[in-house]
Amino acid sequence: MTATRWIDLRSDTVTRPTAAMRAAMHAAEVGDDVYGDDPSVNRLQAHAADRLGFEAALWFASGTQSNLAALMSHCGRGDEVICGQDAHTYRYEQGGAAVLGSIQPQPIAHQPDGSLALADIAAAIKPDDLHFARTRLLALENTIGGKVLPPAYVREACAFAQSRGLATHLDGARLMNAVVASAQDERDAVAGFDSASLCLSKGLGAPAGSLLLGSRTLIANARRWRKALGGGLRQAGFYAAAGLYALEHHVARLSEDHANATRLAAGLTALGLAVEPVQTNIVFLHLSEEDLPALRAQLQTGGVLASLGPRTRLVTHLDISRQQVEQVLAVFSDYYAHRRQTASTHSSQDPS
Ligand SMILES: *Cc1c(COP(=O)(O)O)cnc(C)c1O
Repeated sequence: MTATRWIDLRSDTVTRPTAAMRAAMHAAEVGDDVYGDDPSVNRLQAHAADRLGFEAALWFASGTQSNLAALMSHCGRGDEVICGQDAHTYRYEQGGAAVLGSIQPQPIAHQPDGSLALADIAAAIKPDDLHFARTRLLALENTIGGKVLPPAYVREACAFAQSRGLATHLDGARLMNAVVASAQDERDAVAGFDSASLCLSKGLGAPAGSLLLGSRTLIANARRWRKALGGGLRQAGFYAAAGLYALEHHVARLSEDHANATRLAAGLTALGLAVEPVQTNIVFLHLSEEDLPALRAQLQTGGVLASLGPRTRLVTHLDISRQQVEQVLAVFSDYYAHRRQTASTHSSQDPS
């Protein structure tokens, strides 16, 4: 089986450029972006800034680098960022803000809906005292674990942070999933934030790239940090052309991924499995440890790639069709039908 035939539910990062996106990349006009000379990068940045209502935007090779440069632009050495325990910037980026930015993270527990309670944020803000780090920034994430932060909450949290003199950053790696799932206006979804990062390389389907949005001053600062972090790419316009294509053609269709995730969750629930409520393109499925090895083998035979564990994350995206969702459900269904059968055979042979 060739790699292109796998039904890959590990992440929405696995999407490959469509023929039309490849054509846009092929046709891209390019220049040296470190000199600011790449017309395709400049076009993408201007498009994104205008579309989302920020003064400026900056293309990065990855979301990790975009978040890190943002945090380093907001915070200096010994400053502190308040974020969620499960925030990507805290948990899944090797602590880069601390390691490379000398920024102290102050993680706090998430509420069940993914938000950070304002009372917890208030309690985490340090007074002006030489024993403490200087609390500078509140960083939220949307979507978080596939959940859309309630729009009213986002507005309140940003207003609260501002009232306490904190800057705000949004890790919006899957911002467009949040926008589409909640039918929000794109600008409204980011309106309260001083900066926002979004990934072009996930559900939007570009091969690489993230955008950071902010004020001209913040973006100028981030551009300096990007160079220091090794992120000054030269003819980045090939990627930017893919990113612009993604923003122009792949946003509204995210609703298909959400519908596919909902169908996947419903099918798995019908098999008697414990599935968490689905809001966007991410399904969390609870599996019993004893099923994992055999189920893993069966999925592999069925051409399905998934990172199985007690809490398994399955992600739908541009390269997963409804028909493939049905195929995945058929593999799960075969496994559980067979298991029930062997379980009943065993119990009928059991003399006790
Ligand atoms: C994927 C992701 C990022 C950045 O990831 P890269 O792989 O570095 O592009 C940041 N935040 C969240 C929430 C993500 O899901």
